[in-house]
Amino acid sequence: MEKKAGGKSSAAQPSPYCDFCLGDARENKKTGGSEELVSCSDCGRSGHPTCLQFTANMIVSVRKYRWQCIECKCCSICGTSDNDDQLLFCDDCDRGYHMYCLSPPLASPPEGSWSCRLCIAEFHHRD
Ligand SMILES: [Zn+2]
Ligand SMILES: [Zn+2]
Ligand SMILES: [Zn+2]
Ligand SMILES: [Zn+2]
Repeated sequence: MEKKAGGKSSAAQPSPYCDFCLGDARENKKTGGSEELVSCSDCGRSGHPTCLQFTANMIVSVRKYRWQCIECKCCSICGTSDNDDQLLFCDDCDRGYHMYCLSPPLASPPEGSWSCRLCIAEFHHRD
């Protein structure tokens, strides 16, 4: 695995075990197959994408940024985890966003799935 420079000094050591099924990259105990783990960049907690119920787009996206687990999740815009009842999670990348940090802000949680602006550009762009 490549090392990323910068960020906080106390980089979490990624756990080699899935927090959900307790399997590892060689064996997802739920599916019996091998599956690469994704690890929280803050606490190091790991999980299989299927155990985390990731969508296909999330599996691609979380490898491209410092993914945070649900416990560590911050808003990608303001960088805090205040008002977590106002946090939305993108269905394509699992980033967190406060409804009030979006532009335009959302007054109520969207029904059904929701994608952030980055993912609309990445996965849902129209020509
Ligand atoms: Zn698992
Ligand atoms: Zn975490
Ligand atoms: Zn925010
Ligand atoms: Zn997104």
